[in-house]
Amino acid sequence: MTAAGDPESWPEFSPESIAAQAGHYLDRESGAIVPPIQPATTFARDAGYCLRQPSSYSRYGTPAWDLLESTLARLEGGKAAAVFASGMAAAMAVIAALRPGDRIVAHSGIYWALRSFMTGFAARWGIGLDLADLSQPAALGPLLQPGKTRLVWLETPANPLWELLDIAALAAEARAAGACTLVDSTVATPVLTRPLALGADLVMHSATKYLNGHSDLLAGVLVTAETGDLWQQVLANRAGYGGTLGSFEAWLLLRGLKTLFPRVHRACLSAQQIARTMQDRPEVAAVLYPGLPDHPGHALATRQMQGGFGGMLSLRLAGGGEAAARVCRKVRLFHPATSLGSVESLIEHRRIVEGEGSTLPCDLLRLSIGMEAPADLIADLEHALAP
Ligand SMILES: *Cc1c(COP(=O)(O)O)cnc(C)c1O
Repeated sequence: MTAAGDPESWPEFSPESIAAQAGHYLDRESGAIVPPIQPATTFARDAGYCLRQPSSYSRYGTPAWDLLESTLARLEGGKAAAVFASGMAAAMAVIAALRPGDRIVAHSGIYWALRSFMTGFAARWGIGLDLADLSQPAALGPLLQPGKTRLVWLETPANPLWELLDIAALAAEARAAGACTLVDSTVATPVLTRPLALGADLVMHSATKYLNGHSDLLAGVLVTAETGDLWQQVLANRAGYGGTLGSFEAWLLLRGLKTLFPRVHRACLSAQQIARTMQDRPEVAAVLYPGLPDHPGHALATRQMQGGFGGMLSLRLAGGGEAAARVCRKVRLFHPATSLGSVESLIEHRRIVEGEGSTLPCDLLRLSIGMEAPADLIADLEHALAP
């Protein structure tokens, strides 16, 4: 396999071009411009008993990840990237790099499954965890314990209220206290926000969502600004815990990534239109979308996000939880399903899904806007909302 897309030799194209060609692959023997799927788990040594590429076994690394990782590192402006079997595996590789006695400060509104797992893990492993509403930047300072707080965990816009967190301000404060900042940028994608350029140390994605964009694989990504001790431990955790991405998933993810920019731009335009239309509906008490001027994070979103406000929004229904449940039953084009960032639009009654312990209002519906005609999506919502 010949990777013509050696990131060192590739000129500085714009991010759209980097994504569209995902490494500018060329097989020098056949002229093929699409990489083959390399499913091997083991790699033979040459006559001198040396490996022909860095990995001996695919849990440690495989050429199937190379184009994906170099493309993702470029899109985020990082030094290196690592792909994982899921977003949770990527997150855990960082959390498990901490030691007992270390502390994490996390935004209280992060992805709920991660927040609940992180809370249990921290308690069992002797890691201190402070959860706070970091959309109020003043909340961070008092929680930072220099020498102890090692990680500040952000997610913006944060699911499913779409609060905006000020990455530049929070990362600067964390750094001054000796802590690293990780941004879960699953919802913003590298199309709309570049956390490393704003001072974050690590970016995480559930690549299951926008990066792949087709609801047909689980994957996770970390991109790092520096390749020091923390990153080396993250890589050791990936190999040691075995949360590694399969070759077929890596190949599919590379294919999905090529259309990331047009998918995200289209989702932003449609979401903005749907958000505005829903504001005028009597059945809708509130529309939560950072692209609307009355959203509390709108001014920050305008500064921090480029080219759109994302494809995710939430509706709060005047008719409460009953009305929200009815909409999920009545939609004909939206799928009543969890997850986000795919070509199909999804609608979800989040409170029911989160279950016991959820602090979300019952009247909230989370919408992931896909690639369908916006007029069809609006008509579907209007039909489902009508009494
Ligand atoms: C889905 C999601 C995750 C978890 O990723 P998986 O790929 O499902 O493991 C983490 N963060 C956010 C914001 C997500 O939406």
